Amino acid sequence: MIFLKTDDEIELLRQSNLLVGRTLAELAKLIKPGITTRQLDKVAEEFIRDHGAVPTFKGFPNPYGGPFPGSICTSVNDQVVHGIPNDNPLKDGDIISIDCGTYMNGYCGDSAYTFCVGEVEPEILALLTTTKEALYKGIENAVHGKRLGDIGYAIQQHCEAHSYGVVREFVGHGIGKEMHEDPPVPNYGKRGTGTLLKKGMCIAIEPMITLGDKQIVMENDRWTIRTRDHKCAAHFEHTVAVGLGKADILSSFEYIEEVLKNNR
Ligand code: MG
Ligand code: MG
Repeated sequence: MIFLKTDDEIELLRQSNLLVGRTLAELAKLIKPGITTRQLDKVAEEFIRDHGAVPTFKGFPNPYGGPFPGSICTSVNDQVVHGIPNDNPLKDGDIISIDCGTYMNGYCGDSAYTFCVGEVEPEILALLTTTKEALYKGIENAVHGKRLGDIGYAIQQHCEAHSYGVVREFVGHGIGKEMHEDPPVPNYGKRGTGTLLKKGMCIAIEPMITLGDKQIVMENDRWTIRTRDHKCAAHFEHTVAVGLGKADILSSFEYIEEVLKNNR
């Protein structure tokens, strides 16, 4: 069942999602060769809890194994999503996708960003640029009267035009009091098909895009998803409210990109 949100609920969702953006910005300050994803995880958990929220990913149940041990998902290079924070230091030239979720005042935040560690090869930078562009092309279609397939179509077209792979097995989702609500939001689709979008629908749009083949495998930890061909993958995610004529982006990359600009 899809729950339409009132304006008051959308503001609560925005507060939770802005905290996600601010948490990712704290991590952006620290991402450099030598830091471990466990260190990033600790900073994220403290920052989220210090702001009166709970990291929703921590303890998240898994149909295939144990609950998620971290507060953020840290997916490095060929890892697509759901990477578990660990003690391996990041290296110059790596990319790291960080997915972060918060629960605050009864509502969920969910957003992800792929960061560069030091100097990254141009081919991989281009993947990041295109994936982020595809996210915004999807968001352009998150308007009242369009259909879910319009969002997926826009993302798929943009990424496949660059010969990238669009992961099929993992998709975006409705979001509200629960992190994962109806409807599923695929990153592929046909124009004019699927669920009719209505003002007040809140969804997380999250293209997971690969440099090579779109096939993925699950690691033995029963969480980490990586590309089968070991080529890099990117993941950008915003939570948005479907609006009249325009989507309202509830999460934000502004805090992150302010940090990245100053780091340069
Ligand atoms: Mg997420
Ligand atoms: Mg999500």
